[in-house]
Order: sequence, then C-alpha cells, then structure tokens
Amino acid sequence: MTDLTPLGQRLADVDEQIADSARSASRDLSSITRIVITKFHPASLVRELYDLGVRDFGESRHQEAQPKVAELSDLDARWNFVGQLQSKKARQVRAYCQAIHSVDRDSLITALTNDDVAIPLDVFVQVNLTDDPGRGGVLPSELDAFVDRVAGAAGIELRGLMGVAPLGEDPRPSFVALRSLSERMGAQHPNARALSMGMSGDFAEAIAEGATHLRIGTAITGKRPDHG
Ligand SMILES: *Cc1c(COP(=O)(O)O)cnc(C)c1O
Repeated sequence: MTDLTPLGQRLADVDEQIADSARSASRDLSSITRIVITKFHPASLVRELYDLGVRDFGESRHQEAQPKVAELSDLDARWNFVGQLQSKKARQVRAYCQAIHSVDRDSLITALTNDDVAIPLDVFVQVNLTDDPGRGGVLPSELDAFVDRVAGAAGIELRGLMGVAPLGEDPRPSFVALRSLSERMGAQHPNARALSMGMSGDFAEAIAEGATHLRIGTAITGKRPDHG
C-alpha cells in the first residue's frame, strides 16, 4: 500500500462504499459515475483529485466555475454544472461544461438550444422533490411536458432526471419517487434513463434506488472553505 493523503484516503473510502452499495443492490459498478463536487475549493484541489484518477467534476456557481475550469484547461476532465443557473449565463456555462444537471425552466431550454454544435450538451432535468414549489426543479405534475420540450431542442441531449432529497428527512422516498418518474418517462424517452441523485450523506440509498450519477462533495473533498 502506498501512503495516501487525507484526500486520497477519503476518496478511497467513498469509492469502497460505492462499490459495497452497488454490490448489495446487485448493480454493475460501471453503470455508476462518481462526480466530485469541488465548489468553493481551489483549482489546486481539483488537480490533486485528477492525479488520484478523478475525471468527473461538478460545480454549482458560474462565477466561480468559469475561471476555475479555465485554469484547469490542460486537464482531460469532464465538467458538470449542478447548481441553480440563470438563463442569461447558460450559454457561457455550456461553453465549459459537458453536462448540466439543473435544467428546470423553459428559458433555460431556449438559452441552451443551439443548432450549430458538433457535440450536444448532456442535460438532466431537475425535479423538485420537496413540498415547497419555490425550490429549484420542475414539479412532477409538469414533468412530462417539460421533458418533451427538452428532448425536442437542438444541440442538447436529454440524459435523464436529477433530484436533491429534502434535508433532514429519510432520502429513500424521494429517490423512489424520482426513480418511478424516470421509469414512466423511459417509455417515451428510452435513451434518457440516467438518474443524477445521491450526495455525501445519501449516496448509498441513491445507489440502491438506481442512481447512475452521484454528486459527492464534502465526503471526498472535506469541509468546504468558509464562504458567505
Ligand atoms: C454541493 C452540491 C452537492 C454535493 O453536496 P455534498 O453534501 O457536499 O456531497 C451535490 N449536488 C448539488 C446540487 C450541490 O449543490
């Protein structure tokens, strides 16, 4: 065994838990993408993770992500945008991200539509899994129509659904709900079966319910530096 840094140790621990959860759920590990969320952390931490073999990264604020990704342009990394996104910033975000997990408004579809791209942007439709209609995400009752509009837009590829389990509750019912929405949608959109769900505190439950894309921050990066 080589000596691991604390960061390397946390990454190894999380990956072991992911593998255990996949095994318990009789799922193939290769069907699960572990995205490390590096928001509020410096580019140097991304480099360390890259050296440890991480290729899939996620950020949640355009202002912070844009210069960070630019600084890391020598890396062969894949960038995912997972935060709330203003439609007037959407085109800029698509310029440096391969996937956006938080598409939940028509204005975003319009802003991201592009007839003139070689590689389509991967899009996850965020679903609001809370009782609060003011939270981010499409309401389940409006999902079918919204998903059809995403699927019909040029230059973007509907990959699946994304959800954040409500804080302080058992995450399992939310993941079950997202999974069943995904199954229902799969009849119309068979190539959009991806499920972006599961964070530091609930990725095991998410894997049990079929998550294909985990968005894991602090369990790997450690505590985020103080921010306002
Ligand atoms: C920050 C963030 C994460 C990662 O959260 P952790 O609890 O640190 O794992 C995942 N998804 C979204 C949308 C986030 O904003």
